[in-house]
Amino acid sequence: MEEKYQVFQKRIKEAASFLKLKNFILEKIEKPDRILKFYIPFKRENNKVIFLEGLRVQHSNALGPYKGGIRFSEKVSEEIISILALEMTLKCALSNLPFGGGKGGLKINPNLFSEKELKKISSLVVQKIYPFLGPDLDVPAPDLGTNEKIMLWMLKEYQRITGKKDLAVFTGKPLNFGGSNLRREATGLGGVFLLEALLKKLNFSSFPTLAIQGFGNVGSFFAKFAFERGFKILAISDISGGIFSSKGLNPFEIERFLTSKKSLSQFPAEKKISNEELLSLKVDVLVPAALENVINKKNAKNIKAKIIVEMANSPVDLTVDEFLRKKGILQMPDILANAGGVIVSYFEWLQNKKREKWSSAKVEKMLKLKMVKNFERFWELYQKKKIHPRKCAFILALLKVAQKIENKI
Ligand code: NAD
Repeated sequence: MEEKYQVFQKRIKEAASFLKLKNFILEKIEKPDRILKFYIPFKRENNKVIFLEGLRVQHSNALGPYKGGIRFSEKVSEEIISILALEMTLKCALSNLPFGGGKGGLKINPNLFSEKELKKISSLVVQKIYPFLGPDLDVPAPDLGTNEKIMLWMLKEYQRITGKKDLAVFTGKPLNFGGSNLRREATGLGGVFLLEALLKKLNFSSFPTLAIQGFGNVGSFFAKFAFERGFKILAISDISGGIFSSKGLNPFEIERFLTSKKSLSQFPAEKKISNEELLSLKVDVLVPAALENVINKKNAKNIKAKIIVEMANSPVDLTVDEFLRKKGILQMPDILANAGGVIVSYFEWLQNKKREKWSSAKVEKMLKLKMVKNFERFWELYQKKKIHPRKCAFILALLKVAQKIENKI
């Protein structure tokens, strides 16, 4: 097993031992409820037949239906998907959502398939797992390599096979097909709500300076909502590289610039910088919102930010957590910071079930309430115990899941 997954399991064990969880409860948390594996022969447009290999891991439904994305990625493996499913259980529990955790994946590079092929593939995946899906059973969402359109294709196939008209069986759908207002913005906006709540606790008197890695869905919305609040964004990067301005960057201008098919690193800013340089800038807040493990053993010593808001999943290698803490850097763990997406997925599920459509203003208000409440619960424990913030988040999440598991057995 890769080192990072071993460390993840070690952290779970540490949190469980803090809570003095009984062995059988920890064992249940470490093991998924069910793993569905499937192999599908698929004839491509060039008549070549390939095998599609996929799985859905249903980790725990102790707190409600399994919830988590389906990804299309060449890096799909049982090990990775199982860990991600467990993380979803923890994320939903920490956010007090009536959901358990799950994750699915198909081992393909979606960029190598035509739209017609992807539509057919999406239907085939549903044909394999539909008896295990449902609004009160397992509710998938988009993830790496999948999107709103794929959720709609999957929903249509589910409805065709089962004859059911439920919309709440998938979230992350297009707005006019049962999707929720603000779902796209949710993760970035939720992260900004969390940062605001944290800055208040720290009695931060001025506007913070920020460096943001990633200008995709999460990073770009985080940047725009932070900018609107007057936060000063000194640097932004994406896969093409980074840009820096001591006066501050305007993400709306950058977005307009990018629509002309140029890359972010071509934006006329004061200075071009590399992704590594961005990570080591002297800023108040560093926001990794692109990839996993970007802060690691090699560069942890260079990090000069006071706060790291983990907007990507696992952007910090867990083996450097303690090192960063000893340096006085405050990390907002991913399962807390980037929960805005799954929270609005929950709102979507609720709207579908109640046959309602909430305004953007209502979704925004409810998202803020939830993010701030989650943060307050987390902060109370953090202040009391002074242990690593990630351990606090794991403890709070595990406590909820463990209680339910114990009651059910
Ligand atoms: P995205 O594909 O929309 O954007 C990814 C961004 O990362 C792009 O700007 C891309 O250029 C940049 N990037 C890619 N490779 C890079 C590299 N080598 N160096 C620097 N930048 C690079 O993805 P997203 O939806 O914004 O997701 C970003 C992260 O947030 C992922 O870890 C994802 O799992 C996590 N996340 C996303 C959501 C969501 O709702 N989209 C929710 C929770 C967590």
